[in-house]
Amino acid sequence: MPTRHAPQALHLVLRRERTGCGDMVRRATRGRRVALVGLALHLTLIVAAAGPARAAEPARPAPPAALAGTAANAAPHAVVLMYHRFGEDRYPSTSIRLSQFEGHLRALRDGGYTVLPLRQIVEALRAGAPLPPRSVGISVDDAYASVHREAWPRLRAAGYPFTLFVSTDALDRGYGGMLTWDELREMVRGGGVDVGNHTASHPHLADRDGAFAEREIDRAQQRLREELGSAPVLFAYPYGEHGAAARAAVAARNFLAAFGQQSGAIGPQGDLMNLPRFALNESYGEPARFAVVAGALPLAAHDVTPADGLLAPGDNPPRLSFRVAAEAGGLERLACYLTGGGKLTLRVSAGRRVTVDVPQPLAPGRSRINCTLPAPSGAWQWFGLQYYVPGPAVR
Ligand SMILES: [Zn+2]
Repeated sequence: MPTRHAPQALHLVLRRERTGCGDMVRRATRGRRVALVGLALHLTLIVAAAGPARAAEPARPAPPAALAGTAANAAPHAVVLMYHRFGEDRYPSTSIRLSQFEGHLRALRDGGYTVLPLRQIVEALRAGAPLPPRSVGISVDDAYASVHREAWPRLRAAGYPFTLFVSTDALDRGYGGMLTWDELREMVRGGGVDVGNHTASHPHLADRDGAFAEREIDRAQQRLREELGSAPVLFAYPYGEHGAAARAAVAARNFLAAFGQQSGAIGPQGDLMNLPRFALNESYGEPARFAVVAGALPLAAHDVTPADGLLAPGDNPPRLSFRVAAEAGGLERLACYLTGGGKLTLRVSAGRRVTVDVPQPLAPGRSRINCTLPAPSGAWQWFGLQYYVPGPAVR
């Protein structure tokens, strides 16, 4: 059964996503503090949101027959999950507890999901070919040693393929806690493991020029080809961060797709050079949240402005707007949230263009905005954005 749009989903999108790459340890402490400080606000908003959401359901006009029930489900779509560490409980902002992870695998098995290689999902989207209705891809970033020790045996036993996005310098320099090249080769040879490019040094790319991004990508691609015998066809931006220059560098290199770290499901409207993923960590790894995200549908948004993930000083706060395709259904219950900043005011104008009022400039560093709309099936249609503001980040 599709996941019903339970109040906890709103709770979850309101909470600030704190997963990412690399600099997690510093951020974890503040993440807990933010969660505690925000608890009262969350509870208030959950109650406020749950009431109207339920009350509005019977009053919604019936969709036209052509859209009834599964219009958003009909086109190929999928959810991609993103993990980093497994059972490394000292790093809760990037690690998933093993009990949580095993729960995810059971939920995928029991929930009628089909776990597919990321490449297969991307190729289906590119070709407009069908995918099973509850398709899920699994990705793991950064190549921590716990991928080999904990995740791989469990995924292999479940028969689930996954893509590992590797930053090659960490392996070349033998950083502690990271995979070795031998371990990576062992996983690739064992089957079910695909390797993607995650740059060489895992830099913040958004405000660097295109030549820098090209060097990072090409160096990683060369090392992966040398060590594994083939070059990746998928890319993931470190921290999910990129501006137009980094994006152009990736796009010019014939990757089939590139992934960010904004939440959302992917579908035909998706940007192949910036596909969303749902992050799973200790805070965002509980069964209720997993059910919501694994069952999410794409919200068919397009003509997004600003299109560049790097916000220029004169464009902050962003004058955010996008159009939502008719297949998404009525927009009365569309809601957008700034992570850590609460619910945003929306205006819908002609042509189903949605304008989102971001009242304050976004802070230096990365910010995320989540927009959700319940589908007739009860699942959430989900569209996420990430922007990067140059300057010293407060984390
Ligand atoms: Zn990373």
